[in-house]
Amino acid sequence: MPRLLIQLESAMGETRVAASPDTVKKFLSLGTKVAIERGAGLAAGFVDAAYGNVGAELVTPGDEQFWGQTDLLLCVHAPSEISLQKLRPGATIVGLLAPYSNSALAAALKSAKLSAMALELLPRISRAQSADALSSQANIAGYKAVLLAAAALDRYFPMLMTAAGTVQPARVVVLGAGVAGLQAVATAKRLGAVVYVSDVRSAVKEQVESLGARFIDPPEIEQRPDESGGYAKQASEAFLAAQREQLSNQLAEADVVICTAQVPGRKAPRLISDLMLDRMRPGAVVVDLAVEQGGNCANTRPGETVDRNGVKLIGASDLPCSVPNHASALYSRNLVALLEPVLKDGQLSLNIEDELIAGCLISHNGEIRHNNVFNMGGSN
Ligand code: NAD
Repeated sequence: MPRLLIQLESAMGETRVAASPDTVKKFLSLGTKVAIERGAGLAAGFVDAAYGNVGAELVTPGDEQFWGQTDLLLCVHAPSEISLQKLRPGATIVGLLAPYSNSALAAALKSAKLSAMALELLPRISRAQSADALSSQANIAGYKAVLLAAAALDRYFPMLMTAAGTVQPARVVVLGAGVAGLQAVATAKRLGAVVYVSDVRSAVKEQVESLGARFIDPPEIEQRPDESGGYAKQASEAFLAAQREQLSNQLAEADVVICTAQVPGRKAPRLISDLMLDRMRPGAVVVDLAVEQGGNCANTRPGETVDRNGVKLIGASDLPCSVPNHASALYSRNLVALLEPVLKDGQLSLNIEDELIAGCLISHNGEIRHNNVFNMGGSN
């Protein structure tokens, strides 16, 4: 019977957990034994007793004996290298393992002879949608980014006709219309803003317009970035310069800018320069969701709000952690969707021929796969 362990997350500011009581119940029904570290769900609103009541065993965090018996470790972030050494050879870890350019993780997986599935690398195919943790978390980030912006803005979002006169709706520019960006568009529209969107992928225009926003066509220069697997590829510096020039006028009129433009494994494209910020009005707000990847906007800092001549620059690095109950519930369901086929007939078996498993399996019993991801440069 496979033994599952759910870890208490130790990363600073992390409030999520990799299993809810509902998904623990589901894993038990699949013929597994489930242990959870005490307090693992507390910050997400799931008390220990709720896990105990559905049949999980509550264990002391970091208990060597339990780690040594575990077949499958569910986590949000990869455990520390020291903790990984506690797992037995052949055990599997599953989570948002941040594999890009992470040679230390590769070395730890290799030396402990572990298997590891990094959810960031799940192929974007329809069969994978229910397991797509990047999407479930990005959706939350897009929603929360708009709420943060609305709370920080010195104006209303909706158009209002009051006895004291008419208030014009806020003007919101969303940079990048992937999962987070589209949710930001929908949320800003629901609050009554007028929304403009910039993206480099051609498929996006229709999605943006169907949400009632206006699409800013990318600059018409030859080096428009390619796309692959639903993702944009890295743009050339010439393209980004043309894009900044194009966006500069838009931003000068904006009340809010939500930055979500990303290229997997690369530094985020720099879309807002100091000169563009100089043209924004005092009181405007920029929320940069790409801040951990270097930021779409100059001067943003992870987890901080910087006041730059009256423009508030919010470095929104961990927004899913600010909605931990739903973020955990959705993340947990993503894990069930991914692992249900792996736990068939009360056995744990990784079918490495399966496109889904092959896509995200970065290590198989310590044999490193996807070396290109581990060795990826972070340069733009
Ligand atoms: P992401 O976080 O990697 O990037 C966010 C957005 O930034 C993307 O839309 C990208 O085109 C855009 N971007 C990159 N460079 C830019 C630039 N210079 N200027 C403006 N925008 C720029 O992407 P994501 O949100 O994880 O997903 C991207 C797409 O993948 C989705 O929109 C969707 O079409 C697809 N997807 C498919 C599935 C599935 O079928 N299972 C699931 C989720 C997403």
